[in-house]
Amino acid sequence: MFEREKQEILNCALMLDRYGLIALSGGNVSVRVSADKFLITPSGMIYSEMVPSDVLLVDLDGNVVEGIRKPSLDTIAISHILKNMPDVNAVIHTHQPYATGIGLVTDRLDCDLTTLANAVKGHVNVAPYTSAACLDMGIAVVDNIGSQLAVILKNHGVVTVGKDLKEALYAAVYLEESAKTIFVAKAYGGEISKFSDEQIQTGIDVFKRYGQK
Ligand SMILES: [Zn+2]
Repeated sequence: MFEREKQEILNCALMLDRYGLIALSGGNVSVRVSADKFLITPSGMIYSEMVPSDVLLVDLDGNVVEGIRKPSLDTIAISHILKNMPDVNAVIHTHQPYATGIGLVTDRLDCDLTTLANAVKGHVNVAPYTSAACLDMGIAVVDNIGSQLAVILKNHGVVTVGKDLKEALYAAVYLEESAKTIFVAKAYGGEISKFSDEQIQTGIDVFKRYGQK
């Protein structure tokens, strides 16, 4: 079941790998496929070696419905996100180093770049530390993400969400690109040129017209 969606998850994971957002078997990718079930990548398998049948179908309580592998240890956290964010159909969890690094020293990554406004829809909050592989991680995401498509998990990584996998992927990739740019600005020194709320909103609105639709 859901062979096309499983392949899309693997394609997405390889893109995350290509852009340096995950390494080896870190993080996970999930897609909701029905009212009470979603697909999630397996625990501890290297993405480039995965095949579609390694992706698991699980219910919203985290029970495996189909698949021979052990699901990601974060399955219970991802379940909580999908249960409590009905407009979200895709969740990506990474350990992307630039955004995660900035989260070590701040509680919010300000939206001062067009790409961040485009793809993440505003400032990116940093959720207080919670352990991986437990429900608290999912609660931290739901409680701190706001109306944006990404949240940084302090001392851990990033979670991005979307109405589909593409939206969650864009949020993750452009968050990291923005974090790199901010890193350069901080290294160069001086004051960062700030965006107004209106400029952020313009960046959000512009992206609604982006692409071939
Ligand atoms: Zn993690």
